[in-house]
Amino acid sequence: MDAAIPHAMPCSGGLDSVRKFAAIGLLLALASSPTPTRAVEPSTDHDVVIVGAGAAGLYAAYTLDNLGYSVLILEATDRHGGRVYSDTLGDVGIERGAEELYGTTNNFVYNDIKAEYGPGAQIRIFEETPQSDTLIVMDADGMGGGNTCWSESGNCDADPDIVDYWDFYYATGDYANHPTDELVSDFLDTTWGVPSTSRGYHLYEAGSPAGEYGTTVERLGLRSLSREWNAFSLSGALYGLAPTGYLDALNTLYFDQVIPYISYHSPVTVVDTSGIKPVAIDDNGVYHYADAIIVTVSLGVLKAGIIDFIPDLPADKLDAINTIGMGNGMKISLRFGSQIWESKLSYVLLDGPTASCWTPNSYQPSATDHVLTCFMMGRNSEFMEGLPDDTARIDQALADLDVALGGTASTAFIEGVVQNWTAEPYVLGSYSFPAPGTRPVTGSTQREVLAQPVGTTLYFAGEATHNTAPSTVPGALQSGERAGGEVDANLGGPPAAGTPTADFTASLVSGEPPLDVSFTDLSTELPTGWSWDFGDGGASGNQNPSHQYTTAGIYTVSLTATNPVGSHTRVMPNLIFVPEPSGIAVFGSCVTALVLLQARRRRFCIQPGRSSHE
Ligand SMILES: Cc1cc2nc3c(=O)[nH]c(=O)nc-3n(C[C@H](O)[C@H](O)[C@H](O)COP(=O)(O)OP(=O)(O)OC[C@H]3O[C@@H](n4cnc5c(N)ncnc54)[C@H](O)[C@@H]3O)c2cc1C
Repeated sequence: MDAAIPHAMPCSGGLDSVRKFAAIGLLLALASSPTPTRAVEPSTDHDVVIVGAGAAGLYAAYTLDNLGYSVLILEATDRHGGRVYSDTLGDVGIERGAEELYGTTNNFVYNDIKAEYGPGAQIRIFEETPQSDTLIVMDADGMGGGNTCWSESGNCDADPDIVDYWDFYYATGDYANHPTDELVSDFLDTTWGVPSTSRGYHLYEAGSPAGEYGTTVERLGLRSLSREWNAFSLSGALYGLAPTGYLDALNTLYFDQVIPYISYHSPVTVVDTSGIKPVAIDDNGVYHYADAIIVTVSLGVLKAGIIDFIPDLPADKLDAINTIGMGNGMKISLRFGSQIWESKLSYVLLDGPTASCWTPNSYQPSATDHVLTCFMMGRNSEFMEGLPDDTARIDQALADLDVALGGTASTAFIEGVVQNWTAEPYVLGSYSFPAPGTRPVTGSTQREVLAQPVGTTLYFAGEATHNTAPSTVPGALQSGERAGGEVDANLGGPPAAGTPTADFTASLVSGEPPLDVSFTDLSTELPTGWSWDFGDGGASGNQNPSHQYTTAGIYTVSLTATNPVGSHTRVMPNLIFVPEPSGIAVFGSCVTALVLLQARRRRFCIQPGRSSHE
């Protein structure tokens, strides 16, 4: 659909000259008039607007695109993928975010990757085999000695802290009907007599609450954790992806199809569903209209209130946003000059804040460089965030590894990459977790409440909205699919061929009252009905009406064009500017029209080289 450009005066010329005149005109207007002038906001119009180009948003777009909807994806940053972020260190593929793939159970990604890349592309990780074992290092005894525990040899049972670790780990599922949703830290203290200062507590926290929930023992609700554990629907087997990065695979399978519809650098600050047509407004001042809006930003972004919802979100939705926890987390990948760990190492728990590390090499047999990726969440991540810079964070990781690996880490170190998810302004955390109250004994879970649409125009997706696979990529993808399906069910399919595309021009866009404006219908597909809303309470059913604005203000004008096939509404935000009569007239309607023209042009070039998919 094309933007309507009100032609108040014969303002012809190429885009460059328009820009030049607009800039000069605006400057003159600002300099010569005490009445503040304003640039008229540009706008876009699509069937569905999706906020966020992470896994959930992109899969929602993929679902809707396949159904024939026109979609626009608004992404705050300069990249898509969100918390799926593939990179390399030396010749080893590293994942700055999601890394572990799940098996076949309830997970279409596994089968799709298998079909695309072959049966050997997904390699089991963290599996005990003669070639691979789990190493848990607790002290300075070094490789294979003292309290170092190899599960293959069974000597983990000799260490009471490791026994505690597994006891806590497996007890997690037994408290689904616990009378209270007490903090897991209290539970460890009172039921197990394990204080926060014990090694077993630290190892458990580093391995499970941190790794699986991105948080810390003091923030998890025991009953909610138990229920979440029991509800988890993905396969227990974990895989690494050998031939390519996780994001590359998702691009190939799904995202490439919808990447042209992404508008980068478009952080949404307002989602307004109170007007004649839902609109998402980005930080550049562009109004993105649609019949439905799907919000897929992280729970951290929702908690931070970065998006102003108009009207306010319902109380139960706000309660869900406040109640579900958002963890914090960091990953550090380190490249070494040689393999300083035993070949059978697959996973190591560390005593220090670096918490846990593993070897991406274990599922990338063709890689020749040597990389460990370390994963610190919750309290460990907070400690790392408190260090002055990434160099200090890498030094801390090397110091912790030195303890475990006999001092070899710092000497063999070459380079490292730190990814702090809590510091990412449009993620603000690692992933969601079951804080107390997330899963009550009866009624909806807070995740189900978070997932519910608000009316027929506002929808929610994202990992935190998935009831049985939260904090995962498959969960995020499935949530996007669910939200796309909900939109489709409510809209009843994309606009049928022959539906009008409403469009119009205005003879004037500014002037003192009384301001007489003639509107001209430019809608396609031969409408038989027109419904105008002039923004000041006035309305008309004529095709080409005139309207007099008598009161100072800024007015949004919309036209709904209807024919026997369907209807479409075009909204022009803040189109008409009527200054106070006492003020000096705005420099001239052509100036405003030129500014408007300049602004509206932007919808044709959302992303250089990309289609705006209108
Ligand atoms: C360190 C780490 C390790 C992980 N490991 C695994 C793993 O091994 N396996 C697994 O399955 N999962 C893992 N996960 C979880 C997985 O990455 C997430 O569940 C999933 O990627 C979330 O996708 P999403 O689309 O819900 O959210 P996001 O990925 O956060 O996407 C949201 C998008 O919205 C954008 N955005 C935010 N605010 C705005 C705004 N105002 N306007 C416009 N755009 C906005 C963001 O920039 C982002 O691109 C891990 C996550 C982390 C952080």
